[in-house]
Amino acid sequence: MLPDKPSHIAIAGGGFSGVCAAVQLVRSTRAPLHITLIEPRNRVGLGLAYSTTDPDHRLNGPTWVHSIDPRDSGHFTRWCEQQGLFAADPQALLPDGSAFVRRADFGRYMESAFREHARWPSTQSTITHLQARVVDALKKGDSIEVVTDAGHALVCDMLIIATGNPPPRLQTPLDASLTAHPGVLENPLETQRLLEIPGEANVLIIGSSLMALDVLATLLRQGHTGKIVSISRRGLQPRPQAPSAGPLSPPPTVPVAPATATGRQMLDRILGPAPGFLTQPGVEPTLRAWIRALRQRIGEVQAQGVSWQSAFDELRDVVWRTWPLLPAAQKRRFLKKARTWYDVHRFRSPPQTQRLVQAAQAQGRIEFRAERIQSVAALEASGSLQVRFAPREGEGKANRCEAFEFIINCTGLDVLSRVSSSPFLSALMGKGWLTADECGIGFAVDENCQALSAKRTKQPAVRVIGPPTAGTFGDPLGAIFIAAQIYRILPDILSSLGASRSS
Ligand SMILES: Cc1cc2nc3c(=O)[nH]c(=O)nc-3n(C[C@H](O)[C@H](O)[C@H](O)COP(=O)(O)OP(=O)(O)OC[C@H]3O[C@@H](n4cnc5c(N)ncnc54)[C@H](O)[C@@H]3O)c2cc1C
Repeated sequence: MLPDKPSHIAIAGGGFSGVCAAVQLVRSTRAPLHITLIEPRNRVGLGLAYSTTDPDHRLNGPTWVHSIDPRDSGHFTRWCEQQGLFAADPQALLPDGSAFVRRADFGRYMESAFREHARWPSTQSTITHLQARVVDALKKGDSIEVVTDAGHALVCDMLIIATGNPPPRLQTPLDASLTAHPGVLENPLETQRLLEIPGEANVLIIGSSLMALDVLATLLRQGHTGKIVSISRRGLQPRPQAPSAGPLSPPPTVPVAPATATGRQMLDRILGPAPGFLTQPGVEPTLRAWIRALRQRIGEVQAQGVSWQSAFDELRDVVWRTWPLLPAAQKRRFLKKARTWYDVHRFRSPPQTQRLVQAAQAQGRIEFRAERIQSVAALEASGSLQVRFAPREGEGKANRCEAFEFIINCTGLDVLSRVSSSPFLSALMGKGWLTADECGIGFAVDENCQALSAKRTKQPAVRVIGPPTAGTFGDPLGAIFIAAQIYRILPDILSSLGASRSS
């Protein structure tokens, strides 16, 4: 029996996750749905990741892992073709036939997907953008009332939390008072402030992740001549993409995950069974056993002329399935000891950015160092920032000090560490609707993303999707993994609403 009035779903957050959920829902439902996408930005689909306007900030994977519809890996590539994007941005195309386009263009794609689905006649469903920030939610009988900072009180049948990544914030030992210093850029995603850095300034970038490479790309394009130092605890940088990932790469001679994915392939890889090298007898669900199995697999495929990236991706694609098998202590150990190693292999740099940074490094324009900051002090006389680095191993106790005019923070996107800056998430944690996952980096959810309350009860009417579920599933961080996560939980969402899926 279908419900007699359309179900109302409120989605808090209109970045990639929020829009992807709304679009997949209106396309799949059998009964009409009214979806309100609550997003404070004036444009939806962009979120934190795709709001950049910098032409050198590119997607970190090819177009086929950036489709809003996980059943159709070519969806975004076709949109790019229709928009004439490859002609307008020929640098996006690689000789192997893959394309790494600008993040701003992906934001436009998401925005256009939202517009296209705002009225979806085949399921008589609608998506409306409400420009506001959710600050609270209350139980009203069987319904939920969602409260915004603009004074709205929306009654809905389900609340989907898609608040994504919190903006980067300074981490200890950098004092919060430094955020007011004109030379400290707490949030590197504010591109305009990067553009205002004088070309001759000495710049310290804290972090050497993809975000740091984006900052470098902007500074280099501006012709920066001052010293640029990027530091991280281990001095590791994101690894490159596979040398010939793309439709023209030669077919592997061993059964590895294909370098390209069309149609359902990518979805099948993510939702299909874990690869044999992880499930074979003798491979226990422990970090040690998996790393050993992965190393062995890499050796095996490399012997056949296939890149390590292909073997690594076989693991990455099913992490959401294998991560929950690890005991809590092992998960925490991974986050403490192995996460940086995993991340530099998992989040690979776009080839265009890689080339730019490597050339600048070879010319001595950038220095990557393994360093730990002990303290930062603002020098009143010069206006610069005095950075004291911890002594390196074997260097005795002497600290080293260096002065920089600018410090750019490229660290820390963990959801839980920033909850206090979100009145909404703090309120839901305070009520016990949300609770920390066992790793302490996001929220606890069940396999269908139903939020687990403080008493560990499932709440079918409260769902959490995307990056805040990273502690539970290991890695729903990239666009394709979020899209697949949403696809996977659609039947459960629709059946909770009595609007079971049409296809
Ligand atoms: C800088 C950066 C670059 C990235 N590049 C890539 C890439 O190239 N490819 C890839 O696959 N992945 C990339 N990612 C990973 C990224 O996590 C996902 O691709 C995806 O964008 C996550 O989307 P999201 O909507 O969950 O989060 P976000 O993009 O963080 O969006 C969350 C949205 O929620 C809104 N919001 C927050 N709180 C509230 C509230 N209380 N009420 C209402 N709205 C709220 C915010 O305004 C924001 O718009 C990148 C991430 C970052 C940070």
